[in-house]
Amino acid sequence: MLYSLKGLWLTLVSTVNGFREPVTRQYPATGNIFKRREEPTPVQPRFMGFPALTWDSEVGEPYCTSCMVCIRNCPTQCMSSNMMDNPLQQEGMSHRRKIVDTFEINLNRCILCGICVEVCNFDAIVMSHEHEMSTYQRNGDRVNLPVLLDIGRKFQRENNWVPPTVLAKQKREAEAAAARIDAPEDSV
Ligand code: SF4
Ligand code: SF4
Repeated sequence: MLYSLKGLWLTLVSTVNGFREPVTRQYPATGNIFKRREEPTPVQPRFMGFPALTWDSEVGEPYCTSCMVCIRNCPTQCMSSNMMDNPLQQEGMSHRRKIVDTFEINLNRCILCGICVEVCNFDAIVMSHEHEMSTYQRNGDRVNLPVLLDIGRKFQRENNWVPPTVLAKQKREAEAAAARIDAPEDSV
């Protein structure tokens, strides 16, 4: 009798708990907007998301030349790429002799370390704010060149992105101009 009452009590407690706000969330979300537990957790605006490739809108091509530097330095070896002769360079519209042909990142293996961005000499890769990429497929997070460029263009647009080398050049020029102003006239 006592055990039956205990069992009934536990059933009652579990039923009541079922109506409470869930502590954990379903991830990845299944797209059912009526389930509160599937609302994505808000992230900070400066959150460092997955790497993405940038787009040179002045020329109309990616910045990436597929030089392989980031791929050789990636600690998880989750990137691969191929280069090709740049048709726009042959038409005199681009200074890039080689251009990226294919690029793939396995985001399931990416640890968001940012090393690829640090070592790139061509402003070709950024740590985007994209982080909702989980799927139920083992290989569902292998992203190719068009997807990486789409994420990169979105990041550039939303953040008024300026290539770091351009920013560094502007800073050097400003410092040089300030130094000229500060220098005594007889030293010129
Ligand atoms: S992203 Fe930069 S470092 Fe990586 S292959 Fe392209 S140009 Fe080279
Ligand atoms: S962020 Fe790190 S792990 Fe991810 S692709 Fe770049 S170098 Fe590799």
